Amino acid sequence: MPRKQSLRKLGQAVLEKVADLTISSEDDISPYMPDRLRELATAAQLVAEGRYGKCVECNGNIPLARLQAKPEAVRCVRCQEKHEHVPAYHINPHVRSAS
Ligand SMILES: [Zn+2]
Repeated sequence: MPRKQSLRKLGQAVLEKVADLTISSEDDISPYMPDRLRELATAAQLVAEGRYGKCVECNGNIPLARLQAKPEAVRCVRCQEKHEHVPAYHINPHVRSAS
């Protein structure tokens, strides 16, 4: 299947998922939204803008295999890894300053 056609199908799946969650792509993307929902809303936005399948960071093509595994992916693997690289004290609840 040509990439364009696959992207259309995957984009459709994203829109259906968003519809299930009753998030409209026109809604503001709340910063308090859980990451997964925010990703999904961002992906839906990209579908609406015809940019679905492109990494939001480097504008490179996101591999189809990645999108098939995770249709709401908005970053390529490399940018996603960078994005998720958060210092340990931010994600580890046991490392806290004594108060
Ligand atoms: Zn990228």
